[in-house]
Amino acid sequence: MQLKHHAAMSTVISAGVYYLSGSWGLATVSFLSGILMDLDHVIDYVLHHGTRFNIKDFFRFFMEERYTRLTLIFHGWEWLIILFILSWLTGWDILVTGVFIGFSQHLILDKLYNISRFSSYSFFYRLSVGFDPEFIYLKNRKRDVL
Ligand SMILES: [Zn+2]
Repeated sequence: MQLKHHAAMSTVISAGVYYLSGSWGLATVSFLSGILMDLDHVIDYVLHHGTRFNIKDFFRFFMEERYTRLTLIFHGWEWLIILFILSWLTGWDILVTGVFIGFSQHLILDKLYNISRFSSYSFFYRLSVGFDPEFIYLKNRKRDVL
């Protein structure tokens, strides 16, 4: 899913969060984390290219799937379970719960939009296959992974 789609959906969902909770803090953290979750693409880019960063090359790198390893450390169903437990244990702390909401909607939308397996968004599955994209994504799918 593209950045503009994540921004639009984060806006809508965070407005709903504000409507239901009355908390600007919770809505803001939800909004930001729903977009910023994709910063893990920057980590993968830097792992491939070093600290030399070019924004055009960055988007081509992912759109053309030129990567040989895809870690995407923030994209994982496992983190949602941990964040939910932490939210509960912290008495629904605004920061932790906002990140849980933002990451949850982001990951669900990525799964629905990018034709993929459920396991594609499991960090430990990707780890088990050495972060090899050949085992992560389905063939003949839409080439849109951001
Ligand atoms: Zn994403």
